[in-house]
Amino acid sequence: MLERCNVPTHPNRRRFILGGASAALSLAGIPGAHAAGGRRRIALFNTNTGESLDTVYWAEGRYLGEALTRIDKLLRDHRTNESTPIDLALIDLLYRIRRRMRVRRPWHVISGYRSPATNKALRKNIPGVAAKSLHSLGKAVDVRLPGRTLMALRRVSHFQRAGGVGLYPGSAFVHLDTGRVRYWIGRGVPVGKRSALDPRANGYDCPCCERDQYLV
Ligand SMILES: [Zn+2]
Repeated sequence: MLERCNVPTHPNRRRFILGGASAALSLAGIPGAHAAGGRRRIALFNTNTGESLDTVYWAEGRYLGEALTRIDKLLRDHRTNESTPIDLALIDLLYRIRRRMRVRRPWHVISGYRSPATNKALRKNIPGVAAKSLHSLGKAVDVRLPGRTLMALRRVSHFQRAGGVGLYPGSAFVHLDTGRVRYWIGRGVPVGKRSALDPRANGYDCPCCERDQYLV
């Protein structure tokens, strides 16, 4: 059941963006709201498409719609070119982790949004791919952070307690999502399956399935 994947707009996002002026006023009195100088910046590099961005997506108490659209596009399903509004909590999570780890280089994104068609294809080829992948809801990314080890990235991500954190050492990335808090080490996609799905070196995905997970 992937109907939710087709929801064209994110209700929470719409409220935050359109309510920008009032949101700025309401956030003005919240401690820490301006801790980062009233701006939140994100830098991303898509390893599949070669596209990158470095942009302020939140300023003075409001999310910036144009920046969010660029983020959605960069994190699109590169196989189908479809995009979806990425969960704002996920964008904020990436912002917090990168800031905490004091990294200037961009996140390397191996997988972002996964369209229903792509997820269906993955399910045919890879045992255990989740029918309700959080990638298909715009709530998950597979990433690495240049200059930092996977273990360091996993450790800082754990501290956030913002959702799922899956370590895929065989594929050299960490899966982050905004689902329930849980931790696991994934087996990743078998090497023999990667080329069948995508000939490009970085074109593989995490199964993100329950059977691939165990608590660590
Ligand atoms: Zn993933």
